[in-house]
Amino acid sequence: MARISDLLAAGPTYSFEFFPPKHEAGWLSLGRAIAELEHLHPDFVSVTYGAGGSTRTKTADLVSWVRRQTSIPPMAHLTCMGHTRAEIRSILTDYRAENVENILALGGDPPKDGDVVSDYRYSLELVADVQEFGGFSVGVAAHPEMHPRSTDLAADRRHLADKLRVADFAITQFFFDIEHYLRMRDDLAALGVHKPIIPGIMPISNLGQVSRMAHMSGAEVPAWVVERMSKADDDLDEAERIGVDIATELSARLMEEGAPGLHIYALNRSWAAREIFRNLGLRPTA
Ligand code: FAD
Repeated sequence: MARISDLLAAGPTYSFEFFPPKHEAGWLSLGRAIAELEHLHPDFVSVTYGAGGSTRTKTADLVSWVRRQTSIPPMAHLTCMGHTRAEIRSILTDYRAENVENILALGGDPPKDGDVVSDYRYSLELVADVQEFGGFSVGVAAHPEMHPRSTDLAADRRHLADKLRVADFAITQFFFDIEHYLRMRDDLAALGVHKPIIPGIMPISNLGQVSRMAHMSGAEVPAWVVERMSKADDDLDEAERIGVDIATELSARLMEEGAPGLHIYALNRSWAAREIFRNLGLRPTA
């Protein structure tokens, strides 16, 4: 059983996200991290896709490698902006041939080059195409604190509800205050949508890096997170430990609140993810 919708139906899922490295050394350390994380028996791992297809081959190669060389079911991220329908069909055909069964269908960011041909504007159009193509469990992105391009929370929630009605599940952008997740879940329930929404968990190790990512993705780094992280001063190991503690506490509360799983932004490393698993008493530790 490797379709994420089936896995979610059987109980909470625990998963990790990776990105295709830019350089050779990055592939070696990613291979090591995946091998270490495989001991934790994650339900699936996902691989990001460069906007506009910039990592098309690398994403596909990594997804296929995970599919063939590990016991972990992979999910391929796929963004639609900057792609034609024919290109999307070709990508889906290749994944089907590789027995990849899960796609995270995303809008992506508008191409910087305005002349790029794109048959898509919003992720909902891709979700519908992937469902029509058939054979995949389809996830979408959810932004608990509203998508950064949105100016109206109610409209953002309606768009999220529209795509979740067609998709099988969502994974969220990272957040630090559980209230953002709970409010989004309530808002969707009020719109009649009850599909699983897996919270994305970011173990912080570098406050500057996370603040930049948060700014780009519409998430807030609350003052209490900055204050706790500041206690590490220049001690990088201590910063990582505090980041793991924050992620563990949030994860524990989410599980208590009935979240359907945890998706950890592993950033191609294994230590923080293994520590979170150990702290939560999930699965054997590596
Ligand atoms: P959409 O669902 O299309 O939404 C984008 C914006 O359009 C929102 O403001 C929404 O409210 C609005 N909107 C939607 N429908 C309509 C409509 N009908 N009318 C008017 N407005 C509408 N990016 C990558 O490039 N590669 C990745 O691998 C990647 N992985 C991600 C994984 C996760 C778990 C998450 C949460 C995000 C990820 N992203 C990734 C980022 C994502 O691609 C960006 O946030 C992108 O800007 C929008 O993608 P989306 O799928 O949310 O788009």
